[in-house]
Amino acid sequence: MDGTLNENDLSRVVAADKAHVWHHLVQHKPFETSDPRIIIEGKGMRVWDQYGKEYIDAVSGAVWTVNVGYGRERIANAVHAQLMKMCYFAQAAGSIPGAIFAEKLIEKMPGMSRVYYTNSGSEANEKAFKMVRQIAHKKYGGKKHKILFRDRDYHGGTLATMSAGGQDERVKQYGPLAPGFVRVPHCMEYRKEELGLGHLSGRDFGIAAANLIEEVILREGPETVGALCLEPVTAGGGVITPPEGYWERVQEICKQYDILLHIDEVVCGIGRTGTHWFGYQHYGIKPDFVTMAKGVASGYAAIACMVTTEEVFEMFKTDPSDKLDHFRDISTFGGCTGGPSAALENMAIIEEEGLLENCTVMGERMLGNLQALMEKHEVIGDVRGKGLFLGVELVKDRDTKEPVDEKDVVAVVGDCGAQGVIIGAANRSIPDRNNVLCFSPALIATAEDIDAITDAVDKALTKVFG
Ligand code: PLP
Repeated sequence: MDGTLNENDLSRVVAADKAHVWHHLVQHKPFETSDPRIIIEGKGMRVWDQYGKEYIDAVSGAVWTVNVGYGRERIANAVHAQLMKMCYFAQAAGSIPGAIFAEKLIEKMPGMSRVYYTNSGSEANEKAFKMVRQIAHKKYGGKKHKILFRDRDYHGGTLATMSAGGQDERVKQYGPLAPGFVRVPHCMEYRKEELGLGHLSGRDFGIAAANLIEEVILREGPETVGALCLEPVTAGGGVITPPEGYWERVQEICKQYDILLHIDEVVCGIGRTGTHWFGYQHYGIKPDFVTMAKGVASGYAAIACMVTTEEVFEMFKTDPSDKLDHFRDISTFGGCTGGPSAALENMAIIEEEGLLENCTVMGERMLGNLQALMEKHEVIGDVRGKGLFLGVELVKDRDTKEPVDEKDVVAVVGDCGAQGVIIGAANRSIPDRNNVLCFSPALIATAEDIDAITDAVDKALTKVFG
């Protein structure tokens, strides 16, 4: 760190922040007696706070975003050059980086064809929801309008995406929610008893978990269900990898009942799960909509994309004399050129530096390290993940799987922070069971970085649980 904040600047920034910034997610009462963390610099896997304390960032900007790491000059330079040439024009017209990035992205997504630019994951999801609703009107007299979402999945913070929210704590007190969204059960093998499928395992469990979706479709009436929206690997709901056979069966069900499949790649997208660009590509899924945001430009500029097939696009390519039949939608900042410029460099970095492969190798190392901790720490009930996208579920008892108290999870996260490693926690806090430690280091992580992260977790677990 080059020490850019002197004492005066520091107290001014902290005072301004405490007086005027409404931070996301966190409660503010604690800031009456302590200062918020202000991150002032980042390089590679590391960030520095206002006191100059160095951290390994094991969660890529707290929310699985900065996939290529901090301080990438070539991204900053490309965005700078583009902004000086042409910063913005509404996406009703085109832009050079918008066109070129769309072409590159579609090259990585066989079967997909069209990119709709927006500026957040929530918004990208809403665009897909709107298309589903419009298709219902165009093709099915408005009937096939329901959108199914899964327990424990998250699709955003806007009213419609919250209505498709499988995490109750994010939804409570924000109702009434939008109608036409219907929940289906989760597919988490570790907690299969909750699904009444405790007697099944492996592929049998995966197929049975998918069949629970079919039950909901039949209950609602297939003629009313337009789409199914799922995360390929659930993120904030506790890092849930799908069981064997699940996706195959989900696709059969969608096909059988003529239901569009919307894959939310906001977290998995652009390399996070290793080997492939997208999570869905591990499971042979053929989606109708794919939404992405966080890793698309690693946070260097705001960009999100709703990607769909030529078949869907064709449904909206109607006679210009009909003024209501096309997709009548706009996203102002979907026209910013900084996003696709950053995204192009981000993708080039991942390719040139072999980061999809590194993510797989380092992900396996991290999974192995965390699994090894299970031998030592009885409190670890389950370790799961794909690529550099991992979760560790903490339980009081391996047989009952009762989650540890949330205060203990906070203590583990806090102790890792004190050791200079930022990790996350997720799952669901209603009831009180935010008991999954989350890890999503940048795809550039080295073996030393991974070992340093898991060593810190080991020490923190010993400190908190003995
Ligand atoms: N979808 C998933 C799976 C997410 O994890 C998130 C955010 O964490 C979103 C959608 C919403 O994205 P945004 O916060 O950019 O609106």
